[in-house]
Amino acid sequence: MEKAQGITWDLSALYSSDTDPKIEQDIETAQKLAQDFKQKYHGKISGSACDATLLLNALQDYENLLAHIYRPYAMASLLFSGDGRSDTYKAFIARVQELYTKINNTTLFFSLEIQKIEDEHLQKMLTDERLKPYSHHLHSLRLFTPYTLSEREEQLINHKNLTGKTAFVNLFNEFTSSFEWQFEIDGETKTMTESDLRQLVRSADAELRRRAKAALDGKYGENALIFTNIFGNLIRDHAGEMELRGYDSPIQPSYLRNDVPGEVVETMMRVTAEHYHLARSYYTIKARLLGVPRLAGSDLYAPIDTSETKIPFEQGKELVLDSFTAFSAEFGSIMQRAFDERWIDAEIRPGKRGGAFCHGILPSVHPYVLLNYVDNLDSVYTMAHELGHALHDVLSAEKQTLLTYHPPLVLAETASVFAEMLLTKKLLREETDQKRRIQIIASKLEDFFGTISRQTMYTYFELDAHLEGAKRRLSAEDFSRLWLKRRDEMYGDVVDFLPEEKWFWAVIPHFIHTRFYCYAYTFGALLVLALYDQYEKEGEPFVPKYRALLAAGDSDTPENLIRSMGMDFRDENFWRGGFRVISDLLDELQALV
Ligand SMILES: [Zn+2]
Repeated sequence: MEKAQGITWDLSALYSSDTDPKIEQDIETAQKLAQDFKQKYHGKISGSACDATLLLNALQDYENLLAHIYRPYAMASLLFSGDGRSDTYKAFIARVQELYTKINNTTLFFSLEIQKIEDEHLQKMLTDERLKPYSHHLHSLRLFTPYTLSEREEQLINHKNLTGKTAFVNLFNEFTSSFEWQFEIDGETKTMTESDLRQLVRSADAELRRRAKAALDGKYGENALIFTNIFGNLIRDHAGEMELRGYDSPIQPSYLRNDVPGEVVETMMRVTAEHYHLARSYYTIKARLLGVPRLAGSDLYAPIDTSETKIPFEQGKELVLDSFTAFSAEFGSIMQRAFDERWIDAEIRPGKRGGAFCHGILPSVHPYVLLNYVDNLDSVYTMAHELGHALHDVLSAEKQTLLTYHPPLVLAETASVFAEMLLTKKLLREETDQKRRIQIIASKLEDFFGTISRQTMYTYFELDAHLEGAKRRLSAEDFSRLWLKRRDEMYGDVVDFLPEEKWFWAVIPHFIHTRFYCYAYTFGALLVLALYDQYEKEGEPFVPKYRALLAAGDSDTPENLIRSMGMDFRDENFWRGGFRVISDLLDELQALV
């Protein structure tokens, strides 16, 4: 089996097909429940007449109505991810999005009223044991209280977003998924997708990598007018909204959403930037391994061992399953289900979106995973990563309800990166060949520099773009200038970038899809290094504590969840600890080279 041909997902946990009449039923029920919900609870939550029972019923009814729209929404978005060219799926997803907005508008009063409950009164209600599971959720909602506008204003913003910022995000998605390249390879011109080109950027042939990288970033550059407008408008939209709401910084809502103190993230990013030199040392070693005086930008993802062995899907699957099982037999058997019950779509096919994701939908439905599996070690790592997310979702689904099911963003990458660490250790345990060991350590380090140093650099850029873009309209060249400044802070003079790479800011979808998301990768990876360190020290007793952390979902603040593992993220040394692990790996690599 090549490139996971035939490994597609079974969506029947949602619906039998896109024409299943249950979709329409759910959509109708969702609308009806939303209307009933408004009738039943509007004006009754914020006042002193609300008691614990009423609030509890409202929370449960709210979860029930959301579940009815999340199902069709997930179906539409999974189908669209599977084939972005289909007009049927495009129409389906547009319709569900619109409906979702409508339902949000109808039920918006609920979170607004929760925000307006008097502190004292809420504390009294929270003494009722039955509300306990929701106490953190209520707390998180109220973090936004000082920044929330009136109900009518919030509705207007939501309404205008449909043709405003959501339309720009949709344009980005549709536009980039329509991209095709006429690319010459082996004397033949072939039509290629973005994911084909990304694969060539990782090829063993330096010239091919250079051409592929130049073609990829160059195309975003040719269309800079569109990307400048999309990104620029999203920035200005955000700036306007920030001003209306009274935030001091464009990144502040993300701190609130993650429920982490801004100063903790700033410390983490500063400590990360202080360790950029580790990345530079690594890329210097990598140049030596590739036998070049200095790396080109297109060499960053070059394979180190050019005799890279093919790892077919079945073998990758066994590696991932074994690494989970070695940590916990239970984890292994949960992951076995992911394969047996076809939670995974891994094959490469035209129209399918690139990259990989795990979509946790509802506690009552198992998560779905999308991969583009290309028979190499990277693909195995991506599989471990996404299945780590899936494991997190499954464990969280045991006790959490819809509102507390999704892990907080800063912990969202914990299980995924931890799973990669388990895979690395399994590979190193079994590998005696020196060249292979070099490859494994190097690829892990590369990953850490990608998720830790690079994502922090992205966040610094994103922050610069928002701060400058709020003041004036940024041109394409402005974006590139800001990008190059932050990029060069990280790579210094150890990498010669291609001219086309000045457009790379336009290629990164996070800036469009999930503003200020990237530092969560840094956070997650550094946290995992600290956790892994503790696992190596403690052994078995660590396993149930880690399981409890994942099962806790979003039921407490990240600070408390991390403290339950015996760690304190306010301590600067907590973050430095992660870099000691990296530095040790780097020393090991240096010794092997
Ligand atoms: Zn992830």
